[in-house]
Amino acid sequence: MAIIVKMGKVPTEFKEALPILQRIEKAGYEAYFVGGSVRDTLLNRPIHDVDIATSAYPSEVKELFKRTVDTGIEHGTVMILDHGTGYEVTTFRTESGYQDYRRPDKVKFVRSLKEDLKRRDFTINALAMSESGQITDLFGGLADMKAKIIRAVGDPDERFNEDALRMMRAIRFASQLDFQIEAKTLVGIKRHSQLLEKIAVERTHTEFVKMMTGRDAENGLDLMVATDLYQHMPGLTSRQSQLQRMIQSHFKLINEVQVWSLLAFYFNFSSQEISQFLKSWKTANKIIDDVILTTELLFRMTADQVANWDLYRAGRQNVTNAVAILNTISPASFSAYLTDYQKLPITDKKQLKITGGQLIKAGILKPSPELGKVLNYLEKAVVQATVRNDEQALINATTSFINEDD
Ligand code: ATP
Ligand code: MG
Repeated sequence: MAIIVKMGKVPTEFKEALPILQRIEKAGYEAYFVGGSVRDTLLNRPIHDVDIATSAYPSEVKELFKRTVDTGIEHGTVMILDHGTGYEVTTFRTESGYQDYRRPDKVKFVRSLKEDLKRRDFTINALAMSESGQITDLFGGLADMKAKIIRAVGDPDERFNEDALRMMRAIRFASQLDFQIEAKTLVGIKRHSQLLEKIAVERTHTEFVKMMTGRDAENGLDLMVATDLYQHMPGLTSRQSQLQRMIQSHFKLINEVQVWSLLAFYFNFSSQEISQFLKSWKTANKIIDDVILTTELLFRMTADQVANWDLYRAGRQNVTNAVAILNTISPASFSAYLTDYQKLPITDKKQLKITGGQLIKAGILKPSPELGKVLNYLEKAVVQATVRNDEQALINATTSFINEDD
């Protein structure tokens, strides 16, 4: 029986792209929505990127539209800017010769939708939706969706051999969608887990964070341990017992900083260990800084040793991160720290009611290294509420600080 999705019910992202499908079809080619956006629409989940697949070759696609950009022309992808914010249209293709377990040596453009769907990773990701809302399901993706199953398209061993990242993706989808991994697919992951080492850390990183911020992340982590995948990720090899403890707990994480901070907390990492661990995952420096601050708060909050200065130094975002993490893993509420943060006399050095320039102008200090020291002292004193944040109080505090220092 044909499944038809009513176009009146699809997200606006699809509606905006309909003229693209219509234009391609009018020219005599086929065009479909494919991949994650179709899956997520059928699951009533919000969609992000809308992918379109077509039987038209890239040069043919470009002839049909006024404004196009070659975003990935060698893989058959052209971005069309004529409608809405920009849509990627990719020519049906087959892939072959995965010599390095990650990228096909050869992509071939083809005219057949079936061939294109066959190269996709999982049955629920191999659905196509036409302009009229009709779903093409050649591998039982709809039944798997109903049964909440992640199943490789074709032979799992072959598919993971071609591209080892698919193993991470399987577990990531299981976590995000709260699905089970089908038995043979799971065995395939176990059997090929060591191939993950062939994959660029950046790509494993992306999938790991998506898995950890998924709905059923404890299960995702459990699967990573059960399949031995974790053994082939940076810095996790000797962490089985801590990972097991995490799997037994309940946590809900909503961003990357929270993911790494929770791990660092369970691993009892020092700042230096956090930095080393996250560098091995090729994590951005800004994230590393935030994880260090958030993790320090986790240790302090659980030991009930938080000073105003700790909250101030961490900043609003990291205080929020730490409280959010602890509220999910602990029966107690840590939300009072949010109020404490809001009550801080200042949240930024710029809010000090005096500047170095004013101190110089008032003849209290000369431009010198001492000036920086004084301002640091005032910042800390105001945050800890030992000095009021008004001009006179700050001048007085400066004078006594200088005298004390002499
Ligand atoms: P997300 O919600 O994260 O975007 P997605 O399923 O859309 O999930 P993408 O990486 O955006 O994932 O890929 C789009 C589609 O391309 C997938 O749904 C799948 O059909 C196919 N695909 C992506 N990566 C692979 C892969 N490594 N092997 C096979 N097919 C893949
Ligand atoms: Mg996508």
